[in-house]
Amino acid sequence: MSISSILVANRGEIAVRIIRAAQALGIRTVQVHSAADRDMLAVKLADQAVEIGPPSAAKSYLNIEAVLKAARETGVDAVHPGYGFLSENATFAKAVEDAGLIFIGPRHDAISLLGDKVEARKVASRAGVPTVPGSNGRIDDIAAAREIVEEIGFPVMIKAAAGGGGRGIRIAESMEDFERHFPQASAEALAAFGDGGLYVEKVITRARHVEVQILGDGRNAIHCFERECSLQRRRQKVWEEAPSFRLPESVRKALCESAVALAREVGYRGAGTVEYLYDDETGAFYFIEVNTRIQVEHPVTEMITGIDLVQEMIRIAGGAELSIRQEDVVIRGHAIECRINAEDPMRGFLPGPGLVEALGVPEGDGVRFDTMLYDGYQVPPFYDSLLGKLIVWGESRDHCLDRLGEALDNFEIRGLATTIPLHKALASDPSVAAGDVHTRFLEPWLETEFKAFVASKEVA
Ligand code: ADP
Ligand code: ADP
Ligand code: MG
Repeated sequence: MSISSILVANRGEIAVRIIRAAQALGIRTVQVHSAADRDMLAVKLADQAVEIGPPSAAKSYLNIEAVLKAARETGVDAVHPGYGFLSENATFAKAVEDAGLIFIGPRHDAISLLGDKVEARKVASRAGVPTVPGSNGRIDDIAAAREIVEEIGFPVMIKAAAGGGGRGIRIAESMEDFERHFPQASAEALAAFGDGGLYVEKVITRARHVEVQILGDGRNAIHCFERECSLQRRRQKVWEEAPSFRLPESVRKALCESAVALAREVGYRGAGTVEYLYDDETGAFYFIEVNTRIQVEHPVTEMITGIDLVQEMIRIAGGAELSIRQEDVVIRGHAIECRINAEDPMRGFLPGPGLVEALGVPEGDGVRFDTMLYDGYQVPPFYDSLLGKLIVWGESRDHCLDRLGEALDNFEIRGLATTIPLHKALASDPSVAAGDVHTRFLEPWLETEFKAFVASKEVA
């Protein structure tokens, strides 16, 4: 059955992105929103809008009953969950299916299997994908953990099986550390994710975060190459690229094929991402997790492959077979995405919502801005600080960096502090230009190079 109407169960820039994809496919859209989001761009763009609750996300965007009620009352065929909120909630996916509607994403059983990071490691192993050395299952008590941890060697990471968004991770440098962190981590995971289950992984000290975009229709699966997401703060991505750099062709091939093997292992349906850590000194890569949803950084893949991933996931959910063959997916040029957050990088990334007094968006060949902003928009204080994403394409990585620098110089969001200055500094940094980065590059760099960059601007 093909989809003729979609309810967007999300907000912000991704809601806008989904509405645009639906409109391009001639699909009617219904946008749900909280009382704090009456003025958001997606509400203005959708064919219909339904208020589903107060500002608190728990009572609106995370309220399964309220979302389903809006879906029933507006008679939509399908629900797109975006990212965050209910996007990886198997209970929600099942409730949508039970209501006779289409969930635009994987089947609920695939979400619960791959959403459990311990189970996902087992799936990866079955598919022959190398995983980070660590525990084979959940760790139930400290006594059992001691042996495993001693075998792995310190430092180790204690990770929540249900964790996500960079949360639910702790590092232990010694056994003493481990014994202290373990019970706290479990209690925290239980409070944050409703599941106190933990596992351990060896810390890969100098790793790059490389991930593979996959698409499946339940029978066949393909990859759309990889993204490089090593520039992170607090384990959250700040800047992403496609393709990765300084990646030998043989490694790229093995990495992408391993993601397809994993997708085939579970008969994956929809768009997804298989995340890895890559050690560029040894050439080894290790599976870390699967995100069973569209990701924030999906546009860089779209820019280099010409594939519209959101349209593709809607078509697949409507029952269509994959319309793209693996041999037709080719990399053209290079793309970089900068996450533009309402945070002040000069003041410890203090979040600061406010009124958009003037918006000057860069334009030109290969420049795309996926956003929720418009002139005069009041950014509400209740949600994630992501305002939008600047995505720039160039024929080569150097060309892309040049264009990015220019785009950032022509970018102005007046009225609130944003991460634009951080991206300007990164775009002109020699280590970034050389691709000499890893997941622990950005945090110390903020204390040294970035501070110097800011000081030089202040003098000038
Ligand atoms: P991506 O994996 O697409 O790069 P992020 O990791 O930044 O994106 O997550 C996207 C959004 O989803 C963010 O708003 C993040 O805070 C949220 N998120 C991701 N996983 C979870 C989770 N398990 N629980 C709560 N929020 C999450
Ligand atoms: P989340 O579900 O929160 O996205 P991930 O397992 O994807 O958690 O890890 C988030 C980030 O934490 C990674 O991108 C990486 O920077 C770091 N990380 C995770 N596991 C390890 C590890 N074993 N060694 C080193 N860094 C890791
Ligand atoms: Mg992750």
